[in-house]
Amino acid sequence: MTPFREIRASRLADETGTLNKQADLAFALCYPSPYHVGMSSLGFQSIYRSLHALPGCTAERAFLPDDVTEMHRLSEDLCTYESGRPVGDFPVVAFSLASELELAGVVTCLDLAGIPALHAERAAHARTFPLVVVGGPLTFSNPVPVGPFADIIVMGEAEELLPILVNRLRDQPDRESLLKSLVQQPGFYIPSLHAETPPAVAIASDDCLPAYSQIITPHTELASMFLIEAERGCSRGCAYCVMRRSAGSGMRPVAPGRLLSLIPAEARRVGLVGAAVTDHPALPEILRALVDAGRQVGVSSLRADRLDDELVGLLARGGYRTLTSAADGASQRLRDQVDRHTQVEDLLRAARLCRVHSMALLKLYVLIGLPGETMADIDELARLALELAALAPKLSLTVSPFVSKRNTPLDHQPLDDIASLEAKLAFLRRKLRGHARLAGDAPKWAWVEHRLAQGGFAEGVAAAQAARAGGGFAAWKRALGG
Ligand code: SF4
Repeated sequence: MTPFREIRASRLADETGTLNKQADLAFALCYPSPYHVGMSSLGFQSIYRSLHALPGCTAERAFLPDDVTEMHRLSEDLCTYESGRPVGDFPVVAFSLASELELAGVVTCLDLAGIPALHAERAAHARTFPLVVVGGPLTFSNPVPVGPFADIIVMGEAEELLPILVNRLRDQPDRESLLKSLVQQPGFYIPSLHAETPPAVAIASDDCLPAYSQIITPHTELASMFLIEAERGCSRGCAYCVMRRSAGSGMRPVAPGRLLSLIPAEARRVGLVGAAVTDHPALPEILRALVDAGRQVGVSSLRADRLDDELVGLLARGGYRTLTSAADGASQRLRDQVDRHTQVEDLLRAARLCRVHSMALLKLYVLIGLPGETMADIDELARLALELAALAPKLSLTVSPFVSKRNTPLDHQPLDDIASLEAKLAFLRRKLRGHARLAGDAPKWAWVEHRLAQGGFAEGVAAAQAARAGGGFAAWKRALGG
């Protein structure tokens, strides 16, 4: 057995809930990051189940290998987990794309599957290659750079679009008529026909909620945790966020009874997922039911202004040792400016509650480089962090540069200069040494993300060049011409 086959076999053996179905129409469902990331994606898992539920349709999973260089060296094909069939043999290859930098993973997966990455190359070839379909969270902001690679992009919430796609795949005699039939259909972006102007995202009806895990595995970021969507969307209006209320129809909470009824009796760890879970009006009731049943809990987004003694107490009873929230802007002025509105007092209370409930760590996400930011804002952040560090058992700040996204009020805002971002990080490191841990993405990667977030087809083609040149920053810089 090759090492890759061994890895697949041992991971499969540790899974519960794997689906196996024979059907005429088979999707290779690919995640452009390694297994432990892909299997943590509720959207990926949910699409896997939905495809299996459609009559005459099945899906098998594949992931970006953990060691791409080794796979190239062994000249191995990218294969699916369920049957070990080469991805290139499937009639449809579908990707779920969460972030801009995963675009390189799409190209690498197509290369490893022996499928010409560009749809124009596939169309010009005498042989018929699989149809390449892309969907996922990135479609809410800017899917255009993936356009050169995708035949079809499913925009937004895919639940009600999948049956349409599968029916059209059956009804249309050839690829050209399939694409022409979908171009007028809301929610489908056909890059070869729409060019660089995608249609609006689709919003699924509330009956489709909630998404929940199909497969439980110990080999994910959230080991052996059953994930379920407690709500979808957000009713707040942070100006930098693609999930803000204007992107969908606000927050759509799932009724506690329905949510609890979908959790399998054997699930010992339950993660509640959503953009704004702490805004769910029945969250304490749901958490109490879970922890009273002896389950561990996880919540994907904790808004500091919602953290009170009851909520943090329930999280502590559910096994929480790290309280994670976000401050986002470096100063109150910036937070107010981008409609984030988190107050200093909310953050100080979170730090105190962390200690009261014997948690080990307060972890805060912070954005730097928002428009108009000065060193005075960074100094305010440093002073606040010192105050928090004195109250919390331990403090960790994850600092990320602001990258402007399409479909937000801050679209087209420039990225702060890399040297300026580095200087701000160095200042914070100096001020917080011995008081707080500092983590986060290097500003140079924010530059790549920014170019892709604001880019079009040309940036997508550059991503392919960068991926094939090793995917290091120098390769991206050369390819994007920075
Ligand atoms: S940053 Fe969070 S709270 Fe703000 S709009 Fe986005 S999801 Fe909602």
